[in-house]
Amino acid sequence: ATPMSIMVGVGRGAQAGVLIKNAEALERLEKVDTLLVDKTGTLTEGKPRVASVTPAPGFDEKGLLAMAASLERPSQHPLAAAIVAEAAARNLLVEEVADFDAPSGKGVTGKVGGRQVMIGKAAWLAEHGVDTGALTEAADKARREGATAVLVAVDGKPAGSIAIADQVKASTASALAALRAKGLDVIMLTGDNRVTAEAIAQRLGIAHFEADVLPADKQAVVERLKREGKVVAMAGDGVNDAPALAAADVGVAMGGGTDVAIESAGVTLIGGDLTGIVKARALSHATMANIR
Ligand code: ADP
Ligand code: MG
Repeated sequence: ATPMSIMVGVGRGAQAGVLIKNAEALERLEKVDTLLVDKTGTLTEGKPRVASVTPAPGFDEKGLLAMAASLERPSQHPLAAAIVAEAAARNLLVEEVADFDAPSGKGVTGKVGGRQVMIGKAAWLAEHGVDTGALTEAADKARREGATAVLVAVDGKPAGSIAIADQVKASTASALAALRAKGLDVIMLTGDNRVTAEAIAQRLGIAHFEADVLPADKQAVVERLKREGKVVAMAGDGVNDAPALAAADVGVAMGGGTDVAIESAGVTLIGGDLTGIVKARALSHATMANIR
């Protein structure tokens, strides 16, 4: 490829809010046939808010939320930020946490006021002997509306659930339509629950998705599709997405996402609008046609 055409392509991209980091990304973009997209922060705003708090018998809403916020305060996760912000908005008192642990893609655990608290996905709580059955109904109701429900256990007993909603970006539906019109196969990947994933996928007309994907498995999906001969772009924003972004033929980071995602990607969409991928592909095609 001639450096001049590449420079022109990169310059045009920048004007359109698409930062192309290297020549390889610009060259490969036109051949991309499969786009993997992370849900949270990529299809959605990534600014989750608490939508409802449902205490189990023996717990009250404020007490449950205060305990949850205490435990989530040391966490970097966007779900944690939503819980902490809600407790602050309700002027609830948060306490210190001891023995804090946050296994990636599962949840958080620690001691709050001498009690052992866990917040996270149902399967993880169940692994630790929590009978989550009584929390399922409220959680699934929230999930069917596209919210994320995290379950709370105190001293090994089910204590309640917290529904956290994150709005789909205004640009997402039209961006996906444009990408599909170009023949791209769009697959959503999320660490979130299947019911939530299905609700969001259905709302956006996404036919293929994988839910309950652990952070390390996103990269494995990229590698599997590449082995199948697909030319794969992966769009994401989080620390969790970085290995998959680096493994993809073209990694696409959302502007406003984490630094490590941006560093791992060949392309950054400044406004976080996936329509940028359509523009970048057109630019790639024009650049490569110019060189050929
Ligand atoms: P995503 O791929 O949607 O960004 P993650 O892999 O980070 O999701 O997390 C997957 C799931 O693990 C979340 O939907 C939630 O159920 C649980 N989880 C992870 N971190 C936390 C946390 N700090 N508090 C509560 N739940 C969490
Ligand atoms: Mg994300």
